[in-house]
Amino acid sequence: MNAPLLKVETLTVAYGGIKAVKRVSLEVHSGELVCLIGANGAGKTTVLKALTNLLPAADGQVSLSGHSTSGLGPWQLVKQGLVMVPEGRGTFTRMTILENLKMGAFLRVDSEAEVQGDMDRVFAIFPRLKERARQLAGTMSGGEQQMLAMGRALMARPRLLLLDEPSMGLSPLMVDKIFEVIQDIHARGTTVLLVEQNASRALGLADRGYVMDSGEIGMTGDAKALLEDPKVRAAYLGE
Ligand code: ATP
Repeated sequence: MNAPLLKVETLTVAYGGIKAVKRVSLEVHSGELVCLIGANGAGKTTVLKALTNLLPAADGQVSLSGHSTSGLGPWQLVKQGLVMVPEGRGTFTRMTILENLKMGAFLRVDSEAEVQGDMDRVFAIFPRLKERARQLAGTMSGGEQQMLAMGRALMARPRLLLLDEPSMGLSPLMVDKIFEVIQDIHARGTTVLLVEQNASRALGLADRGYVMDSGEIGMTGDAKALLEDPKVRAAYLGE
């Protein structure tokens, strides 16, 4: 089997003396949609911040296609195909939607036509962004900003898209829409690592899942099997 696209081995991350992530190991293979679920404060966001080198690892290794990502800056990681949509979206509120999307492609060295082709694909996934192309991002709803953040990430042509709590704070209708879009992005060929508190929706979509509890991976396996697991149902699905 080929090396996993992402391999995380015994990752430990601490805030001061407190370990928020303890010896976490996980893998994502090319073409998969993998979810990382867990309660509030379990350490999911901290894992993503360490994967993107926004936080230093106290211990452990992270590799992309077999190459260590240690010491690479966030933009170098984007160039390697590791692109994150952070919690809270991080859109440029004083720029238009079009300008935000173009920013997503700023590290690309290919032609204008290639970038335009990707813009058209993003607009096909998010018709709302096309309708509002000249609107300032800061005037969009939370759900629209989530779509914009995802669209901007796709403009970087990710090999692995990291999504941090994309459904957070959205209305039920918009949550449905966002999960539909994640499925669509995956079906179009992007590998996804999805961090979610909404365990049932995330497991319903994913191929495999990891369950995080107090900084550690408690359970892992086929997403549908986890969804049926009584322990997961009791702890994360309110049953
Ligand atoms: P949520 O779903 O609520 O975002 P999470 O699973 O993503 O939770 P993290 O945000 O990774 O969890 O937090 C893990 C632990 O680390 C928590 O106990 C949190 O309080 C702590 N923590 C997070 N950020 C910091 C920080 N900057 N300084 C100190 N402790 C932090």
